[in-house]
Amino acid sequence: MWQIRHRAGSLAALGSYVELPPDISEGIARHGDEYQFSLTPYLLKTLVNSDGTIDLDDPFTYLFFPPFEPFNVRADVYEATKKINWEMESEICVPGSQLWQWKYTDRICYRSKGCMSICTYCFQAHRTVDRNTIRTAVKGDWELGMDWLREHPQIREFLFSGGDPLMQTDDRLEEMLADVRSIPHIETIRFNSAFFMHSPMRITPRLVELFKRYNVTEIGVHVVHPRQFTEEAIESIHRLDETGVLRLVQIPLMRGVNDNLETLKKLLEISEQHKLKGYYLTHGMPWTISADRFRTPVHTGVKLLSALKRHLSNVAFPEYVIVARGGKMQVPLERSTLYINREDIENALVWTLEDTQIQLTTVLQDALVPGDSGFYKVQGTPEFIYTTYKEIPIVVFKGWKGWEVYMDDLDSD
Ligand code: SF4
Repeated sequence: MWQIRHRAGSLAALGSYVELPPDISEGIARHGDEYQFSLTPYLLKTLVNSDGTIDLDDPFTYLFFPPFEPFNVRADVYEATKKINWEMESEICVPGSQLWQWKYTDRICYRSKGCMSICTYCFQAHRTVDRNTIRTAVKGDWELGMDWLREHPQIREFLFSGGDPLMQTDDRLEEMLADVRSIPHIETIRFNSAFFMHSPMRITPRLVELFKRYNVTEIGVHVVHPRQFTEEAIESIHRLDETGVLRLVQIPLMRGVNDNLETLKKLLEISEQHKLKGYYLTHGMPWTISADRFRTPVHTGVKLLSALKRHLSNVAFPEYVIVARGGKMQVPLERSTLYINREDIENALVWTLEDTQIQLTTVLQDALVPGDSGFYKVQGTPEFIYTTYKEIPIVVFKGWKGWEVYMDDLDSD
């Protein structure tokens, strides 16, 4: 894989592709102490101007570069990447390995390490960006997982995710797919990958043949912006036409990048045109390097999808989700004013961002109606609430593991 071997993985390597202003070089050097930096030559080519410069005022380009502010300003955000974004320890199911995650009741996810490029909004930062992570790979990870899988007949769905699973060579993928298909109770095989947009030449004829031969069921294609649909990217998506693999588009919602009607509509339309079915529009995760730079108010996503409702076919329409404890939660597309009676929630607990549980009434304290009415006035639905906590915007919702809190951003409404 030429693109992987020639990645710009250091400041020096990046300098051979593009002219960098000093403050940017400083930012990357600082970032490099603890966090990986990497861009494929293909991705760089799509970001660099014809005169060899790079425009970091362009929010899309900035997605792939670390923040350049001094550490003392952003330390909280950097530290935050050490957290593992709702990947619950109880789901890391194979003893001796950190790469296997049991999701829902019947799905196993093999989260291979590493990625071809590093996106600063990556919610698998602990597997891609962070140099000091507990999610390390060890020799024998795969075999341990296969043994575990043979003993768990309730698992029917196998998900290759990451990092990016297409970092494996075709030879290695063939061995892995043969192993998975040798287990009779595995019915469906899915992949998630961003290679189509970061290095489309990775979709080789051999890979296409493997997908066909091992009856890969679905592939989630990770896209952020319409301009990623270059000729090469489009061609790589259509290489899968003959396989019959269902292609689904997964989009992180990023402030200033794709959180406006025109861009999102175009992105979903062009995806459909190239046989990528709308799947997920994902609200930004709290613990990523870019969290504060690119977090969009949850309600912005709701307004965008509501506005698109009658202008896109249902095939193109994604589900707006928040990655939460125990699995993704759908964000309701409605928001009304609600009055919640204190008595109804008196004993309810809520998971905080710090992974502790506190009283739901504490989290709703900013919304308490003055006087002794015992009512909280909030926005949302009975199980998805927009409010503030200590004046910071949050959403509180009932997920798979009970009530939980998520960071929101200031909404102009
Ligand atoms: S896993 Fe996806 S989001 Fe994370 S660095 Fe790789 S391509 Fe980017």
